[in-house]
Amino acid sequence: MLEKKQIGKSTLSIWAGEQEYELYERSTQVPVVHSVSFAYKDIDTWHKVALGETDGHIYSRNTNPTVRAFEDKVKELEGAQSATSFASGMAAISNTLATFLMPGDRIVSIKDSYGGTNVIFNEFLPPLNIDVCLCETGDYEQIESEINKGCTVLYLETPTNPTIKITDIKRLSSVAKKVGAIVVVDNTFATPINQNPLELGADIVLHSASKYLGGHADALGGVICGNEELVKKVYHYREINGAALAPMDAYSLLRGMKTLKLRVEHQNESAMIIARYLQNHPLIEQVNYPGLESHPGHEIAKKQMNSGYGGMLSFAAKGGLEAIKIFLPRLKYAHMAANLGCVETVVGPPLTTSHVECSAEERSAAGIPDGLVRYSTGIEDVEDLIADLEQALAAIS
Ligand SMILES: *Cc1c(COP(=O)(O)O)cnc(C)c1O
Repeated sequence: MLEKKQIGKSTLSIWAGEQEYELYERSTQVPVVHSVSFAYKDIDTWHKVALGETDGHIYSRNTNPTVRAFEDKVKELEGAQSATSFASGMAAISNTLATFLMPGDRIVSIKDSYGGTNVIFNEFLPPLNIDVCLCETGDYEQIESEINKGCTVLYLETPTNPTIKITDIKRLSSVAKKVGAIVVVDNTFATPINQNPLELGADIVLHSASKYLGGHADALGGVICGNEELVKKVYHYREINGAALAPMDAYSLLRGMKTLKLRVEHQNESAMIIARYLQNHPLIEQVNYPGLESHPGHEIAKKQMNSGYGGMLSFAAKGGLEAIKIFLPRLKYAHMAANLGCVETVVGPPLTTSHVECSAEERSAAGIPDGLVRYSTGIEDVEDLIADLEQALAAIS
């Protein structure tokens, strides 16, 4: 294992997870092992591997060499003891919640979580007799008082999607620890480059690998990291319930991750420049970016996000939905699409992306105006992105 403390994150992005394996036919790249099962020459060895007494693989729903390399890479980047992966980010979230929550349990979270997560909270957990308490994001008094009433899981996401709100992981983790709750943090927006929740007191950090980790919008995946005991429990749920990451997707994610730090640093810088540009634009009435001093979570973000504020921002144009229907299609260097975190700039209103599952009332209750635009900064030259915004915004006026 690489010594993560001394080794930089770009080095980890490239080498972690790739050093422990015997290279197939001396290949320098992790091979895509498209094998469902792994064969043994004698029963005793097979049995030892099956019992977990010897390293090895049995069946790819449980473990697979390509998938293992991906898990190890994320594990090192998050500074974790252990990691396990899933077919998607939502599988990581649902499997984690299903592992730790039993009928009669209580979960405390915030209202601004990812749309799909919100559906789990509102639709799928309550019929299982799991009490879901969703607090105003940023209302620490309410969140702390709800945690103190007792809960099994505290679930956080920071920065949030699409309102880019910041939550103090360290502060709330320490409150949750006192009532024995497991703290789960969705770190998808920040990436392990900008934020390491385990160092801030979280027990489980999870990612939609489909976003920044892969970075090329060509593979779905999810991953969780934490201590061995907790991750093993979630792994066991996943190996039986079957939401395993496919080897080809693991390979695409591994390849994408080699440039994770390069991409994220570039995106941090560009997003900051774009946020300032938009803040000064007469047609823009609200810009949500934690790097702006005016952002209510700026001071906390400064403390808990090590090296940057991320590539995600959102903003509202004057004229609401009608204005963005004119403006967004005029962008030359942005996909209008539901994903984020990739090399291309991607834009979309939450109405069609993160919160498509929610009703207009639910969106408005969550403080998401219909004219909000979620902007995922790509790695294009920032001058071109600004010029593109300029010409597209000119069409509104
Ligand atoms: C996309 C996303 C998810 C869900 O991930 P999938 O890979 O699409 O299942 C969860 N959380 C956040 C913050 C996301 O952006």
